[in-house]
Amino acid sequence: GEHIEPGAGKRRLGVMGGTFDPIHHGHLVAASEVAARFDLDEVVFVPTGQPWQKSHQVVSPAEDRYLMTVIATASNPQFSVSRIDIDRPGRTYTIDTLRDLHTRHPDAELFFITGADALAQILTWRDAEELFSLAHFIGVTRPGHHLADPGLPAGGVSLVEVPALAISSTDCRARVAHGDPVWYLVPDGVVRYINKRQLYRGAGAPRG
Ligand code: ATP
Ligand code: MG
Repeated sequence: GEHIEPGAGKRRLGVMGGTFDPIHHGHLVAASEVAARFDLDEVVFVPTGQPWQKSHQVVSPAEDRYLMTVIATASNPQFSVSRIDIDRPGRTYTIDTLRDLHTRHPDAELFFITGADALAQILTWRDAEELFSLAHFIGVTRPGHHLADPGLPAGGVSLVEVPALAISSTDCRARVAHGDPVWYLVPDGVVRYINKRQLYRGAGAPRG
C-alpha cells in the first residue's frame, strides 16, 4: 500500500507578490524555479494595490500592472494572476494578501515567494507571527542582495538560489525613460504593452 503523509494531497499554491511595474524575466524565472523546487501546483501572481513601501514614489496604474502581469504569465498553465490586492482599497500589506488567499483556498498550502531584498525586511512587516502561520516563506536570492542573518523563525523560511538575473523593474523603467531597449528583459508582449500605453516616458525623455 501507499504511505500517505499527513497533509499530502493538499494543493501547493505559490504566491508571488510584487508591484510588477513592469513584470520582468527575473520574476518569471524565480516563480518557475520555486515551482519546480517545491513541487507547486500553481503560482498565483498578485500585483499590489498601492504598496506601502513605495508610498513615496509614483507607481503605474494598477490596471496597467495587472494587464502586464496577465500578458507575461498567460502562456504558462501553472501561472495565474489574482486581483485581490488591486481590488482591496487602501495600501497593500502582505498579511491581508495571505489572509484573503487563505480564505479563498482554505485547503491549500501557501508558499509566499519573495526576493532576498524583501525578505531582509520581513520582520518590519506588521503581524510577522501570523504571516509565518499562514504561509511558508521562500526567499529567492537576487544579484547584489546578500542575506544578512535575518533572525527568522526556524522552519518558517527557505532560501532558494535562482539563476542570477540582474533585472529589476527600476532598471527597466529607467531604460524606457532613456530610450534604451527592454527587449529580452521583459516578455515581448510586455514591451509592446509599454509602448502602446507609453509607460515610463519621463518628462524630457526621448520618445520612440
Ligand atoms: P523595483 O525595482 O521597482 O523595486 P522589482 O524588480 O524589485 O521592482 P518588484 O515588483 O518590487 O520588482 O518585486 C516583486 C518580487 O520579486 C520581490 O519579492 C522581489 O524581491 C522579487 N524580484 C524582483 N526582481 C527579481 C529578480 N531579478 N530575481 C529574483 N527575484 C526578483
Ligand atoms: Mg523591488
